[in-house]
Amino acid sequence: MKKVKEYLNTNVLTKIVIALAVLLTLVALFLLITRSAPISGDKDFNSDSCKTVVVVSAGDTLSGLLSKQGLSHNQINEIVKVLKSGAGITGLRADRDKIEFLRNNDESPVNKIVVIPSPWRQVELTCDNAGAWKCNTIDIERDTRAVYKSGVILDGDSFYLAGMRAGIPAGILADVYDLLAFEMDFERDVRAGQKFSVLYEENFSSGAKVDNGNVLAVSFDALRGNVKMYRFKKKDGTTGYYDEKGNGAIKSLKRTPINNAKVTSSFSTRRKHPVLGFTRAHKGVDFRAATGTPIPAAGAGRVVKRGYNSGHGNFVRIRHNGSFETLYAHMSKFKSGVNVGTTVRQGQTIGFVGSTGLSTGPHLHYEIIKDGKHVNPLTVKLPAINNLDEANKTKFLEYRHALDEGIEYLSEHPNMFIVL
Ligand SMILES: [Zn+2]
Repeated sequence: MKKVKEYLNTNVLTKIVIALAVLLTLVALFLLITRSAPISGDKDFNSDSCKTVVVVSAGDTLSGLLSKQGLSHNQINEIVKVLKSGAGITGLRADRDKIEFLRNNDESPVNKIVVIPSPWRQVELTCDNAGAWKCNTIDIERDTRAVYKSGVILDGDSFYLAGMRAGIPAGILADVYDLLAFEMDFERDVRAGQKFSVLYEENFSSGAKVDNGNVLAVSFDALRGNVKMYRFKKKDGTTGYYDEKGNGAIKSLKRTPINNAKVTSSFSTRRKHPVLGFTRAHKGVDFRAATGTPIPAAGAGRVVKRGYNSGHGNFVRIRHNGSFETLYAHMSKFKSGVNVGTTVRQGQTIGFVGSTGLSTGPHLHYEIIKDGKHVNPLTVKLPAINNLDEANKTKFLEYRHALDEGIEYLSEHPNMFIVL
């Protein structure tokens, strides 16, 4: 099977032909896979004669787990040291990392340990006859396919429901949502009859599906026009998302910091205040969300205010690069470690939804301030983070053209995929 590590190029159709050839084999494999029990589901000690598999749970420490396997204090120290120097592993992550302990037989001591930090990496520790531990990292080879899913919004639907119905996995759908949120207002741009599609990666190892990868392309027939985004790797190796013309699709700020939250009150210069009763401007947008829902920073920046006032309740104000600031109000609590002066990334949790200050119920009140003036978060034109230079743009347009051909083919052949 031919593999192109970098990205799709002009021979997309050739790859589809290859895909066609392996399709039947895969259908057979899929049937096998779905019938066999998952190996990663074993939460507890799962001992057989010479192998013990442990899925790390909260509170587990490496030395604690090693000690349970009967390893001596000195051995534990050495293993911890070797793991750090040989594989850069200094701690374990609950519910993610897996460790296998191997013995020659039931009675003999552990002489091999396999730490599995991801489905794509294994770190093998072996003990030689002299009792010294050695570390060897193995990268698991993956086969990646691009699969295509499409759907349509029905009456009374949300994009989320329609996406699930179209068979888009939840994690991919969340990524698509994050991307589209830069260009779309899910409250006002979504109507029954609109079509959407996504092309994304599925990663396989030895014929078995392991996980989903990146979103490669997304399309949504929004009210304001068709929104399209493509993942593209630049010549310098960095990747980003771009619109059809090659303009950066990732904006410096998000219009809707909380995904899938319903807008309960829009930006307006005049509205009757639900608590105060009289008419005054609503300088932001309200998103309904449950108390405790994490509030992500709409963009990278620095916290310039964190405090309480009678109107906003607990609020955070962030200054972003350039002329933009954002404000988040009515928080139940702040995220610890986020203080005035803290630098935050886009998407980093800064606090949690609540109903403090002048508020009728739990929601996020979100403001964007441009050059000192409040603007409508749902309509303000936002600057792109990452634009392409001429050389990259030419390459992008070629790539996009080829990918579009592939997508068109897949849209007519829903069970096919592209071999990457
Ligand atoms: Zn509000």
